Amino acid sequence: MRIGIIGLGAAGAATAAYLAAQGHTVFGFEQFTSPHPYGSSHGENRMLRRYPGEGPEYVALMDWAYPLWQNLAQQAKQQLFVPCGTLEAVLPAEDWANQASLTDLLVADNVRQYFPLFSFPSDAKVFWRKQSGYVLAEASLHAWLNQARGAGAQLHMQTAVVGIDAHGRCIRLHGGATVEVDYTVVCAGSWVRRLVEVPVKVERRVLAWYPYRTIPASIPPGFAVIGPDIAYGMPSPDGKTYKIGHHQHFNEVIDNHDVVPPVNTQDLMLLNRVVADYLTGLVPTPERTAVCKYTMTANEDFIIDFIPDQPKVLVVSACSGHGFKYMPAIGRLVNTMLVGGNIPFAVDRFRLSAHRG
Ligand SMILES: Cc1cc2nc3c(=O)[nH]c(=O)nc-3n(C[C@H](O)[C@H](O)[C@H](O)COP(=O)(O)OP(=O)(O)OC[C@H]3O[C@@H](n4cnc5c(N)ncnc54)[C@H](O)[C@@H]3O)c2cc1C
Repeated sequence: MRIGIIGLGAAGAATAAYLAAQGHTVFGFEQFTSPHPYGSSHGENRMLRRYPGEGPEYVALMDWAYPLWQNLAQQAKQQLFVPCGTLEAVLPAEDWANQASLTDLLVADNVRQYFPLFSFPSDAKVFWRKQSGYVLAEASLHAWLNQARGAGAQLHMQTAVVGIDAHGRCIRLHGGATVEVDYTVVCAGSWVRRLVEVPVKVERRVLAWYPYRTIPASIPPGFAVIGPDIAYGMPSPDGKTYKIGHHQHFNEVIDNHDVVPPVNTQDLMLLNRVVADYLTGLVPTPERTAVCKYTMTANEDFIIDFIPDQPKVLVVSACSGHGFKYMPAIGRLVNTMLVGGNIPFAVDRFRLSAHRG
């Protein structure tokens, strides 16, 4: 089949690689040059939780993604997944019972003994997930793009798509050229609503990198604190700093997301508090910071579905701040949705109808 992919961030690049490897004729279009710093897929790394807490559909997606990450690294001949493990601290207010069956449970006292970087409250349930870790973000993008090109995909950088015609069978490019396809897959991240109507909003987020008080002897694990607010972090690949983010941050919706407002004092107070509360092994003043954006759905589930009045358009919004780790599986899911075949888990949560309530 001839398949057009709009957007070559993580979702589009991984999907292009998977579809091209299946023998499809793939055309990819990216308005900038991938990777670039204006979307959601740039930077050093993203956390990979082997047993994500978002429900069985996500665990099933990760069952697909996990071996595909290894394949990608083998093909790219470089390490793309760093299995440093993660500590997931569930605070007392949250329901942790479902998570307990998946892995060992540590009590907080043991955490201090084995992982002195962290200082979780003594009444938190802390899970040690040794199969988790982080993936290298931009290196993975390059690997997917190379894989896609190697399998014959035609990837066009600095080529913006301005419209989708003929119910998804014709992609209209800036400048007037058109490309005929059998299906269009929209992987446009925060720009998605310029092409199709889907219920997402764009929110601002901030990241900060804190130096270690003492450089650890081995790579420390990533972490997530799951409570009334959700904080997370992971070691930087350079071994000198630890990256901290706050999943909700201030849920600040940005209408013009082409210009993300810079870091301010409130942002730093929030992230410094996370460090003071949970990571006493870090110097509580960041060495560097960055702003970025989440594309959010109301319940934070992905949207992966055909557009009702455009049956040849499949939209992929693997978003809400947790999509990167699943991208190899998203490519496989898109292929199965296009050609047909068994999907061994329910995809109802990803349907547009689930999001429109
Ligand atoms: C701060 C932050 C931390 C995160 N942490 C994690 C984490 O720890 N673990 C995890 O799994 N996930 C994480 N995520 C989520 C993950 O990074 C995103 O889900 C993922 O990168 C989204 O990729 P995407 O391809 O959908 O979007 P994008 O990367 O934004 O890509 C969309 C692309 O489409 C292009 N485009 C848009 N419109 C057009 C057009 N009309 N024509 C041509 N090109 C177009 C854009 O230029 C862009 O390159 C995080 C995200 C952020 C922002």
